[in-house]
Amino acid sequence: MDFNDTPQEADFRAQARAWIAANRPTDWQNKTGRDVDGIAMSKAWQKKKYDAGWACIHWPQEYGGRGATPIERVIWSQEEGELGQLGGVFIIGQGMCAPTIMAHGSEAAKQRHVPKIASGEEIWCQLFSEPGSGSDLAGLRTRAEKQGDEWVINGQKIWTSGAHYADFGIVITRTDPTVPKHKGLTMFYLDMRSPGVTVKPIKQVSGRSDFNEVYFADVRIPDSQRLGAVGDGWKVSLTTLMNERLAVGGGFPTNFEEMFELTKVIEGEDGPAIEDQSVREKLADWYIRAAGLRNTQNRMMSALSRGQAPGPEASISKLVLGINRQNMASTMLDIQDTYGVISQKDLAVNGGQFHEIFFRAVAHRIEGGTDEILRNIIAERVLGLPGDIRVDKDLPFNNIPTGAN
Ligand SMILES: Cc1cc2nc3c(=O)[nH]c(=O)nc-3n(C[C@H](O)[C@H](O)[C@H](O)COP(=O)(O)OP(=O)(O)OC[C@H]3O[C@@H](n4cnc5c(N)ncnc54)[C@H](O)[C@@H]3O)c2cc1C
Repeated sequence: MDFNDTPQEADFRAQARAWIAANRPTDWQNKTGRDVDGIAMSKAWQKKKYDAGWACIHWPQEYGGRGATPIERVIWSQEEGELGQLGGVFIIGQGMCAPTIMAHGSEAAKQRHVPKIASGEEIWCQLFSEPGSGSDLAGLRTRAEKQGDEWVINGQKIWTSGAHYADFGIVITRTDPTVPKHKGLTMFYLDMRSPGVTVKPIKQVSGRSDFNEVYFADVRIPDSQRLGAVGDGWKVSLTTLMNERLAVGGGFPTNFEEMFELTKVIEGEDGPAIEDQSVREKLADWYIRAAGLRNTQNRMMSALSRGQAPGPEASISKLVLGINRQNMASTMLDIQDTYGVISQKDLAVNGGQFHEIFFRAVAHRIEGGTDEILRNIIAERVLGLPGDIRVDKDLPFNNIPTGAN
């Protein structure tokens, strides 16, 4: 397998690099948060890319992309590098919602929304998880009932990232409780400012609010906002979830090189941290994992370049990456000794990045599938072990015992 650029790929890389160098925003590092300034800067960069044909480049041209190959997509994100962080607010819309609309939406929905998602004009959120159904997504209870040409939605979602600044969202609902849980679901999309939608931000320990509770009280939407057939919501949600694991597990850096360089300059009691035997052992371990991750990600790219959807590689990658980033950041904070408690960007080693990685890694290990669920997938689909026990799989949903019945 040859991972060097072909002449065409090298040409594409040179074009991308030149455009980024000529157009990159300055002073963006302090504004990548999801506050008003950060979002404005993200939108400006996204629109600039879109106007020049560099946004969502692997999407078809008719929906705002440029029909680029999967490898060109990888080259673009390598060249965009750290600037890619500015795309954080668009990950759910571009990484999960738009692919779902393109696969299951009406032509009108695709024409109306997908280019606006590409240009950053519309921010979307994903309304899947509920208080009683995260990993067991098919156990959800938010109802949608048909009344004439409209659907009426009632229920609650939770952990909805970005719902407080999203314009639209895709929402999975139960439309038939009398059939087994995977068969009675239907997917829709809706304007987040529809009457009856209440968004309540959840305050995090850091003081930020990245996700929300979302309540639906008699929210009415037209049938034209359905994605896929009635009762086919599970299949539609699998499109979203497969894209989610790719978006969450595929592109993150391992940060190994950066950590390695820093162990040479961070001073412990007996000299630079790299001279400490226990740090050296950890570095060797992280190097092995980083190399394994690179190869797994290369396998994902090879699958993409052959036109295949990546399979369990995306689960392996997300599982190892989340644990690894948490573990590395924690050690890097430890070896700074008392300086490790300083998280203020302008005072902390490496601009406080290790604190950010350390705290964010906890979320990484839950969002898009928890470690345990990923291990189940790897056990079943890679190792061929017996499946998880699913006693409620074939029962009508309204006959599944709950705390209430
Ligand atoms: C940063 C972040 C952003 C998120 N953003 C969104 C969003 O935008 N939209 C959205 O819809 N959701 C979002 N979520 C929610 C996320 O998808 C769920 O938290 C996740 O699916 C886990 O569900 P749960 O929290 O209900 O935990 P549970 O499913 O209750 O799991 C609790 C624990 O039990 C384990 N467990 C459960 N079932 C099994 C099993 N069969 N075998 C072994 N162990 C099991 C789990 O692994 C976990 O450790 C986000 C979460 C985070 C952390």
